[in-house]
Amino acid sequence: MSTFISTSIPYVNARPHIGFAFEAVQADVLARLFRRAGEDVHFTTGTDENALKNIESAEKAGKPVQEFVDENAQVFLELCKSLGISNDTFIRTTSAQHKTGAQKLWTLSAKDIYKKTYSGLYCVGCETFYEDGEFPDNICPNHNRTLELVEEENYFFALSRYQTQIENMLETDKLTIFPAYRKEELLNFVRKGLQDFSISRPTKRMKGWGVPVPDDDSQRMYVWYDALSNYITALGFGEKDESLYHTYWENSEKRIHVIGKDIIKFHGIYWPAMLLSAGLPLPTHLFTHGFITANGQKISKSLGNVVDPFALIKNYGLAAVRYYLAREIPPHDDGDYSDSRMRQLYTADLANELGNLLSRTIAIAAQDGIIIEANAMVLQAHHDSGMQEKHTPFHYQTILASLWSQVKEINKSFNEYEPWSKDANARSSFIRETLGALSQIGQKLQPFLPETAQLIRERTQGKIEKIRPLFPRIEV
Ligand SMILES: [Zn+2]
Repeated sequence: MSTFISTSIPYVNARPHIGFAFEAVQADVLARLFRRAGEDVHFTTGTDENALKNIESAEKAGKPVQEFVDENAQVFLELCKSLGISNDTFIRTTSAQHKTGAQKLWTLSAKDIYKKTYSGLYCVGCETFYEDGEFPDNICPNHNRTLELVEEENYFFALSRYQTQIENMLETDKLTIFPAYRKEELLNFVRKGLQDFSISRPTKRMKGWGVPVPDDDSQRMYVWYDALSNYITALGFGEKDESLYHTYWENSEKRIHVIGKDIIKFHGIYWPAMLLSAGLPLPTHLFTHGFITANGQKISKSLGNVVDPFALIKNYGLAAVRYYLAREIPPHDDGDYSDSRMRQLYTADLANELGNLLSRTIAIAAQDGIIIEANAMVLQAHHDSGMQEKHTPFHYQTILASLWSQVKEINKSFNEYEPWSKDANARSSFIRETLGALSQIGQKLQPFLPETAQLIRERTQGKIEKIRPLFPRIEV
């Protein structure tokens, strides 16, 4: 059986921030845990490039829109590489592959799509219509701009027809939402009655940007309809060869979306309804996370407290960034980033506890000619707890806390035994044991800190040219 895992796809009108890095790492750890448990995983991420705000941002930057999104998408792709994200595909919604698939999905839903005239107050920044009087003076609080009265012809999706099926899907956990309290919030919303929603915009207002509606060039798909379909277009849905789609969506056991708490409605209502309409399988799980603050404050450009993930990797290293995100940010609720906490974790957990222990053990092991056999480690991996972890998704903080209490224990017995004061024969079995324990910890760390796990593996197997600290002193 196979497993599908995705992140949401971020807008590319700005540089990636720490929120996306967090989501990517969360999904990556999950993908690695599943793979280690022997599952056949397809993990996808990508970029949402058809939004109207890209046109505005490109104009401000004085660049053609395609050039603008190409450049920005590249930055997101680089971030994934820098973060050690193990995604199998990276889907861009301006790609021909995506457009073909999105159009196929639309065509399959034709019976639920109709055209009507719509007028309402619209915020270009949010790409959303609001009610008159919803905000004071009809000024969007997110973008601080006056809502525009827009009247236009749109295609609508008959969401109301799926009221019973969506309610049932949520009540029976056919689509399981973590954490459960967010499912209750969503159900309360659904029970108030689902409204049909607009799924296109006039091509003229979109300045020709976006995915053309099949057989109607006067309309472009609304960015949400188009963006949601990325999960299957990433697998080649609508292409000549749909084998990835068949394996990892249609016939997979788990179809998991990792998303922020702000977009649950789109993933827990709209997307399943679109799939029901097209006769395609539904996602099975939504893992929803909160937001990250910086030093306790909401992150925003105007406050100037944007946390740049590239800068963090440069200053502290990849392992420290992944460790912080998995260890310090709660899986579902809001969490905080601060440099002082980062330094604390780096110094205490990584450099002092793990790094020092490894250096001291390896130094003696090298001196005594003791190594761990590569084969022994493969066997240990099978006795690992990977299978259990998948049933308690995102309990990364618990897993890492338990690993570090083991590291502390090993440190304690190392200091008590004082192997440096004994001769090679006397300490041989102790060093062998410590090395074995460290290599097991390395194995368990693999989904979280793959790079560190690799270094631990090499060093416990005696593959060292020169002993350098795993976590050198930081100079920031
Ligand atoms: Zn707005």
